Amino acid sequence: MFGTLGRQLVAPFLEVFFPRSCVGCGDAVEDSAHEHLCRNCSRELFLVAPPNCRVCGYPFHGILAGPQACPHCAELDPVFDEGKTLFLAKGPGRALVHELKYQSGFYILRDIERMARDAQNYLDYLADAVLVPVPLHPDKLRERGYNQSERIADALSRATGGHSPCERLLQRIKYTLTQTRLNREDRHRNVKNAFALVEDAVVIPDQQYILVDDVFTTGSTLNACAEALRKAGAEHIKVATLGHG
Ligand SMILES: [Zn+2]
Ligand SMILES: [Zn+2]
Repeated sequence: MFGTLGRQLVAPFLEVFFPRSCVGCGDAVEDSAHEHLCRNCSRELFLVAPPNCRVCGYPFHGILAGPQACPHCAELDPVFDEGKTLFLAKGPGRALVHELKYQSGFYILRDIERMARDAQNYLDYLADAVLVPVPLHPDKLRERGYNQSERIADALSRATGGHSPCERLLQRIKYTLTQTRLNREDRHRNVKNAFALVEDAVVIPDQQYILVDDVFTTGSTLNACAEALRKAGAEHIKVATLGHG
């Protein structure tokens, strides 16, 4: 309605009259640490801090566990070295992911960027790496119009001050069914060999790569991506997700 410039000029005025509404509950956002979560939802957001599962990042809730996998990924047999997640994808965390993934809610990325910057363990984890978004199949990309994992990887890169760049090294060469309704075994079969390096991409063995996705569910997709990077010669591969499903 206003055009880009118009919107930039008008937005601050609109906010005076119409405060932003919370992505989690729809209430007005006032005096909150986040731009798009109200104070209550901000409190409910479960930001993950160590100790956490080394594979998927799930918090250990004070359980004295070894450095190995939690029940979520006990059967994963990960091709990557380590995983971290920023928050749990339930309640407000789930709402943030959904807003970005299904509603083109790119505006929440400002909150994501700030959360990543404030979570010292997550930020340290992202340091000195190349961030590689999990790619969408071209058909899926056309359908959705954007790849949410790319947007997240860009936001995380900004959180590192640009020191860890985002590089689109992978492509999806197999159109896969949505993983949502598949069981663990079928998910694994579904994404096997679905990814490959993009043409002319260069993988450096000594470089730390971090695969970036919206949520960690069973880890099959991230694992298949890690396999493609590994085949291309990458020796140091980690994964980072926004939420843990
Ligand atoms: Zn709320
Ligand atoms: Zn785990």
